[in-house]
Amino acid sequence: MTEQGEALLAPALEMRGITKRYPGVVANDHIDLDVRPGEIHALLGENGAGKTTLMNVLYGLAKPDEGEILLDGRSVKIASPSDAIVRGIDMVHQHFMLVPVLTVAENILLGEETMANPVFLDRKRARSQIIDLGRRFGFEIDPDEKVGSLSVGWQQRVEILKALYRHAKILVLDEPTAVLTPQETKEIFTVLRRLAAEGHSIIFISHKLYEVLEIADRITVIRRGRVVGERLPSETNEDDLAELMVGREVQLTVDRGESHPAGAVLKVEGLHVRDDRGNEMVRGVDLEVRAGEILGIAGVAGNGQDELVEAIIGLRKPHAGTVTLDGADVTGHTPRQMNEARVAYVPADRHRFGLILSFPLSDNLVLTTYYRSPYARGIMRDEAAIRREAEATVAKYDIRTPSATVKAGTLSGGNQQKAVVAREFSADLALLVLDQPTRGLDVGSIEFIHKQAIAKRDAGTAILLVSAELDEILEMSDRIGVMYRGEIVRVLDGPTADKNEVGILMATGGATQPAHEAEVSA
Ligand code: ATP
Repeated sequence: MTEQGEALLAPALEMRGITKRYPGVVANDHIDLDVRPGEIHALLGENGAGKTTLMNVLYGLAKPDEGEILLDGRSVKIASPSDAIVRGIDMVHQHFMLVPVLTVAENILLGEETMANPVFLDRKRARSQIIDLGRRFGFEIDPDEKVGSLSVGWQQRVEILKALYRHAKILVLDEPTAVLTPQETKEIFTVLRRLAAEGHSIIFISHKLYEVLEIADRITVIRRGRVVGERLPSETNEDDLAELMVGREVQLTVDRGESHPAGAVLKVEGLHVRDDRGNEMVRGVDLEVRAGEILGIAGVAGNGQDELVEAIIGLRKPHAGTVTLDGADVTGHTPRQMNEARVAYVPADRHRFGLILSFPLSDNLVLTTYYRSPYARGIMRDEAAIRREAEATVAKYDIRTPSATVKAGTLSGGNQQKAVVAREFSADLALLVLDQPTRGLDVGSIEFIHKQAIAKRDAGTAILLVSAELDEILEMSDRIGVMYRGEIVRVLDGPTADKNEVGILMATGGATQPAHEAEVSA
């Protein structure tokens, strides 16, 4: 956008003095935000800062206590998401709202029957419109493909298409890149730039500062419900943004020191595991994690990492192979048995496995230990002991919550993740299995969790780290196993591993394609 253009363009959206209070917390405290036509505006803030709340107000999901929303200079009331959609505001959610068994076109048209003319929905025309829209924004999509068979990156494009099909002018993307590979991120950025070039306004939420610097035209930072700064990418950098967000200096790289591994704690031999649909996702994996080391598993999401981890911690039965822990065969043991054997697990999907959202945070913090001393005597729970532990954990891990008694579901996404990590890290452990442990966390929290993991390692815990963040794998791992199509195709020394080499192995498995053909982003 030219400077002259900027001066001429009135904001497409203005949020003025937005205030939203929840019991014990002011989630949004007189927030002002304006977004111009054709602008990509990044919203940055630490976990619990109030980003999602502000977007929920915009999308009609939360009613503000104070403040005003203006669209093209006119004050509007947005009472519900359908109200927002009619006014040209749409949201691409972090947890996709698509129906996997329906096709792309069916998903895009879903809800349209009731919104447009119910009798006369021209499906043929809709299909060609979808194809045209895709092309306009730089991708070819088959409207008849089932959404369930699409990669995460493509599902996200379907969500964007759905919004465009509904004539969205203002598009909110809440951490769109959290689940994408670097290549998919590049592609989605191309789509976003085209959208902006056509005059759409984009609100982009992310914790990845380098991404924000790359894609945003302007950045607004909020902390504890208030706007604390606005920046242009050209006048700031990662350190400045991190400090602005968190309110203190943040160490962005991990100081991990040397590891001193001892004997093998976890041994996986000849493991084969199927997913829910019967596809063989893990195909003959052998690996070993020693006491006092971090073995990182690098890989593009969907190459069997989830099934591998689930088989190790007892959530999924392997159909061949063995898992041994300190020399004892634990293949097919239940998660409770694994927990008894001093194995902890931070799952990728905290909603499915990590927390019971309708339970108080305090109960969630003892979810794996509540039936034992000191939290129970016989069948009696010791409420005071549970409360004490919860309060100490909330303080230590800086979990932002009005109290430990609120329902876990009211915590911000990042603070829910911190709660799971805090619980799993609290015990004396033989093995710690971490699956995307810092997804959705702000830079300050990532720094803290990484330090805690290193401390666990140095205390002799064996750590298996699975992460789609190649940087996290490279910074944290003493050894790196690269997983490709269900196999560990290579194991590399962590401190000396080359990012490009790992990236190529992730993309090609090493043997199938010459290195120069593999597209890897740094
Ligand atoms: P994250 O990066 O972790 O997703 P966020 O910036 O999106 O964080 P919000 O989800 O907006 O943060 O949360 C802001 C505050 O509002 C938090 O303290 C949270 O506990 C509180 N909050 C949000 N929704 C509710 C709710 N429905 N009930 C009670 N409190 C809530």
